[in-house]
Amino acid sequence: MSYRGRFAPSPTGALHFGSLVAAVGSWLVARHAGGEWVVRIEDIDPPREVPGSAASILATLEAFSLSPDGPVMYQSERGDAYEAAFERLKTSGHVFPCWCSRADLAVHGGMHRHGQCVAAPDPIRPPAWRLRTPDETIHWHDDLQGPQAENLLDIAGDFVIRRVEGFWAYQLACVVDDGAQAITHVVRGADLLESTARQIYLQRLLDLPTPGYLHLPLVLDADGRKLSKSAAALPVDPADPLPALRVALDRLGVKAPTGPVTPRDLLHAALNEFKPASLRRSSLAGIGAL
Ligand code: GLU
Repeated sequence: MSYRGRFAPSPTGALHFGSLVAAVGSWLVARHAGGEWVVRIEDIDPPREVPGSAASILATLEAFSLSPDGPVMYQSERGDAYEAAFERLKTSGHVFPCWCSRADLAVHGGMHRHGQCVAAPDPIRPPAWRLRTPDETIHWHDDLQGPQAENLLDIAGDFVIRRVEGFWAYQLACVVDDGAQAITHVVRGADLLESTARQIYLQRLLDLPTPGYLHLPLVLDADGRKLSKSAAALPVDPADPLPALRVALDRLGVKAPTGPVTPRDLLHAALNEFKPASLRRSSLAGIGAL
């Protein structure tokens, strides 16, 4: 089977340093395997989207010489595919409409574990749609973090796949699109390690193959806090890519050669030295040095 990896940013702001590490990491692993690397813009959450950020993320990837193989997929254009998957889950009895409020769920630690809605149906208000989750432990092997086991009911309960506003949930869209893009290996940040069991379960229900998974350690700031796409996250400068690219390679545990003066040459020199086995497994604090 040939390797096909991907980078799937959400357009909630400019590409920040944590995402650059995921982009470079997924690119290196794909290229090392002689495989393809594609990009998907996960623009299915309009309230969180920052106008212009999808274009700015793509321009920044270009500036770093991270060019995808083939056209970029936009989740905002994939509604029909999500609808079809949703209908299939509905027909097979795996989803239920839910009117439970946060207060209803708070009684159960904020998680829904009943397999059906426990609030009264409300003809005025549209429901969220949840997946009926079994008390099942999903086992898989992460190529960097090792063997994993997650009980679906403990980790997620009956999770939402279509939100009250009608928006598709990340878990469903991601699984449908990893399938449609024929992704064989997912390399992404460790903040999504916890989503993997839910995604594997959805793949089984939708008869989709389960890709390999590799979760990169999160990038921490100088105080050891997670960098996220918040005000605290450092956007990377597309006009001056080399310094950020060197730090990103260092964070990944890849020896960045000192010679190259273009991002393209630096990436290819790093690729020559790259061994997946030398990827860092855990986080390092101190991104303040960037
Ligand atoms: N869109 C997600 C994010 O930017 C990543 C999804 C994934 O890689 O599965 O955090």
